Amino acid sequence: MIMNRETIKEIMSSEGILPQSRFGQNFLCDENIINSIVSLCEIKREDHVIEIGPGLGSITFPISELTDNFTCYEIDHGLAGYLKANVKNAGIVDADFLKVISDDADTVDVVVSNIPYYVMTDIMKKLFGEYSNARKMVFMVEEEAIARIDCSPKTKQYGPLSILGSLYGDYRYELTVPHTAFVPQPNTTSAVISFTRKDSADVLCPEFVKFLNSCFSQRRKMLRKNISSYASSDEISKAFESLGISENARAEELPPDMFAALFKSIPK
Ligand code: SAM
Repeated sequence: MIMNRETIKEIMSSEGILPQSRFGQNFLCDENIINSIVSLCEIKREDHVIEIGPGLGSITFPISELTDNFTCYEIDHGLAGYLKANVKNAGIVDADFLKVISDDADTVDVVVSNIPYYVMTDIMKKLFGEYSNARKMVFMVEEEAIARIDCSPKTKQYGPLSILGSLYGDYRYELTVPHTAFVPQPNTTSAVISFTRKDSADVLCPEFVKFLNSCFSQRRKMLRKNISSYASSDEISKAFESLGISENARAEELPPDMFAALFKSIPK
C-alpha cells in the first residue's frame, strides 16, 4: 500500500483512529521520502529487520515486501491491531519498545524508525546498547535534535548519545523533511539520518550505556568522582594514567574512543 495524505486520512476515518500526540504520532505521507528511507536501509532478502513505532505502516508496508524476517514494535494498541490485520509479512509486537527484552537483538541486521520524538534519546540509547550488531540504522529525527547526536567533545550537547552514535558507526545526514510530509503536521522540521556500523561498535552493550550515563551524571564534576562506584580510587588512577587521562578531567573533555578504552580498562 502506498501512503499519501488521502490514504492516511481514509484509514484514520474508517478505523476510527485519532493521532495521539502523547505517543508522538505524526504519520509520514510523502511517497518520495518513504522511498528514500526504505532504500537507505539497503535491505537484503535474508535480513532481520526491526522498526520502532510503525504507526499506520508508511514505512512498514514497503519493507514487509523486502524481507521475510521483519518485526515492528508499536506502543499504541489500536495501531498495532490495525497493522496485525493488514501487514501480511511482518510480526507486530504490541508493546512499549523501551520495555522490550529481546532474546534475539544480536541477530538484527537493520533498524529503522521514524522515532517518536518525545523518547528519541532513550530509544536510540537502547538501540545502540542492545542492537549494536546491526549493520545499518536509519532514523527520522527532529532536525533540532541533531545537535545532540552529531557533536564534538567540549560542547554543551556532547554526551552519552553522541558518544554511542559515534562509536556505533559512520554517521550521515541524509535529507531534510518538511513538516508538510506528515499527517498531522508537526511544528518542526525533521531529518533522516543514517549510521553504518563500524568495528568500534564492538564495545557497545547495555553495561557500557550505563557506564556512560554515570560518566555524565554530574557534568561539572570530575569524571573520576562520577565513576567512583565502578572501581577503587587507586584503580581509577591507574587506568587514567595508562590512558593518559588527566586526574581532574571532566567527561565532556574525552573523545568517544577514550570512553571505550576506559570502560575496558576499569574492573567491573
Ligand atoms: N512510522 C510511522 C510513520 O513514519 O508514519 C509512525 C511514526 S510516529 C512519528 C511514531 C510512532 O511511534 C507512533 O506510531 C507511536 O505510537 C509509536 N511509539 C511511540 N512511543 C513508542 C514506544 N515507546 N514504543 C513503540 N512505539 C512507540
